[in-house]
Amino acid sequence: MQAYRRFDSNHAFSYAVNLAKKHNKELIVYEGLRSDYPWNSERIHRFIIEGMYDNQTRADELNINYWTFVESKSNPARGILKEISKNAVAIVTDDFPCFIIPEQTAKLASKVGCPLYAVDSNSLLPLSRFAKEASAARILRIWIHKEFLKGIPEKAKPKWRKEDLADLNQNSKPPKGFGLPKDLDSFLKTFEFKDLVPPAKGMKGGRNEALKILKTFVTKKLDEYETGRSNPNRPDLTATSGLSPYLHFGHIGIEEIFDLVLQTATEGKWNPERMSHQKPGDREHFYSESSSVGHFLDELITWRDIGYLFFWKDKPHHINLENLPDWVKTNFNKHKSDTREYLYTLDEFESANTHDELWNAAQTELVKTGRMHNYMRMLWGKKVIEWTKTYEEAFQILEHLNNKYAYDGRNPNSYTGILWCFGLFDRPWFPERNVFGNVRFMSSDSTKKKFKMKSYLEYIGELSGNSDSLFHD
Ligand SMILES: Cc1cc2nc3c(=O)[nH]c(=O)nc-3n(C[C@H](O)[C@H](O)[C@H](O)COP(=O)(O)OP(=O)(O)OC[C@H]3O[C@@H](n4cnc5c(N)ncnc54)[C@H](O)[C@@H]3O)c2cc1C
Repeated sequence: MQAYRRFDSNHAFSYAVNLAKKHNKELIVYEGLRSDYPWNSERIHRFIIEGMYDNQTRADELNINYWTFVESKSNPARGILKEISKNAVAIVTDDFPCFIIPEQTAKLASKVGCPLYAVDSNSLLPLSRFAKEASAARILRIWIHKEFLKGIPEKAKPKWRKEDLADLNQNSKPPKGFGLPKDLDSFLKTFEFKDLVPPAKGMKGGRNEALKILKTFVTKKLDEYETGRSNPNRPDLTATSGLSPYLHFGHIGIEEIFDLVLQTATEGKWNPERMSHQKPGDREHFYSESSSVGHFLDELITWRDIGYLFFWKDKPHHINLENLPDWVKTNFNKHKSDTREYLYTLDEFESANTHDELWNAAQTELVKTGRMHNYMRMLWGKKVIEWTKTYEEAFQILEHLNNKYAYDGRNPNSYTGILWCFGLFDRPWFPERNVFGNVRFMSSDSTKKKFKMKSYLEYIGELSGNSDSLFHD
């Protein structure tokens, strides 16, 4: 388990179960955590290990031979994967298209003496169903809806039954040094992470928490999603789900969300026949009658997939502004020397020290809570472009801040979200503006006019408390 860290609703696990049965071999599930990944922090480490505790409980319930390894200074990870796979018939892992995972998988494949299968668990549709990446959401939406009408997501569902697991555990023991920390607080204190990014108050990783959040979302927020999604507010008062960190670390599966959303909205009566056969491409009413459901599933499927596809078609992408469409590049060439009214350094951005109250609020939310409301995220990205000397510097600052602080960072959508601010998947907007040219512009003043910001700003005030520093309580 590298990316999709769960047993239930997991394509790679399902494939491994079937392979083990076919070869009549023991199935060993390995979940590890290295300590040297880029932007490593106590925040991310704790979230992942909390997920591993939940997986341990589930493995015990299902009687799965589950080996965990959390690297530390005194317990290095070097060579352990090769060691534990030396007698393997096959290795199965996740085909996650971003961050260090594609490289890690390729390296492992070159070192081991058995076949390695990377299984695509990224979305409801296998990404290989698409011939190429999509240049806009409206194009991908139609491709996706057509695949749904062919029944592909139903056919591609991960399948295993508890009975399938019965003979797959022969109780082999892992080498010395495996297992989870008994006392997570003390364990994490032994680490010297490069950056000080503490866990956010109230955030907990793992499958149990993910399922709880999903349940709250479908029962209390889903109906409001269409109208309330864009309003920045404190997380309990926004209509959004808060599921992206759990999707990112694979603590919950997209199939599970899709099913529960549709079954809740139709009181258990949803079936694929209810999809709108006449309207592939209809954002609101394709999956069901409810336009709130339509909007939510469009974010969960179309907008999430467009980022995964962008990476998957050309992995591992070296992500930079070269990936932008030609019309944006032409624009930036024309406007690169425009005068910037404000210029800030990385330190000033990072410590939320700009002239703009809303921008500072969004950055404070990111640092303190590891998340940022989607509308504020768009404004946040746009303003960094406006307030840096070059487009390249803006990209680097956004990548660094997003991946350092956000629980859902280091994901395909981190990069495509940031690149959206530079015009990716978007169209030209008029009038032409300073620095942006025809790339969509956003302003804090219009955000204040569009939404009631009082409650959001009060929430940020509470997060900051009386402290001058963003980084300590
Ligand atoms: C500058 C910038 C940076 C971003 N960085 C990330 C990131 O690091 N990781 C990340 O997962 N998303 C990122 N996004 C996309 C989006 O902001 C988040 O996915 C969304 O805010 C997550 O909140 P939620 O789970 O409450 O979403 P909900 O509104 O509840 O949506 C459900 C799910 O749909 C998907 N989704 C929703 N909105 C988008 C979107 N605009 N683009 C792609 N997928 C979407 C997410 O998986 C989300 O969990 C970024 C957007 C921008 C503009």
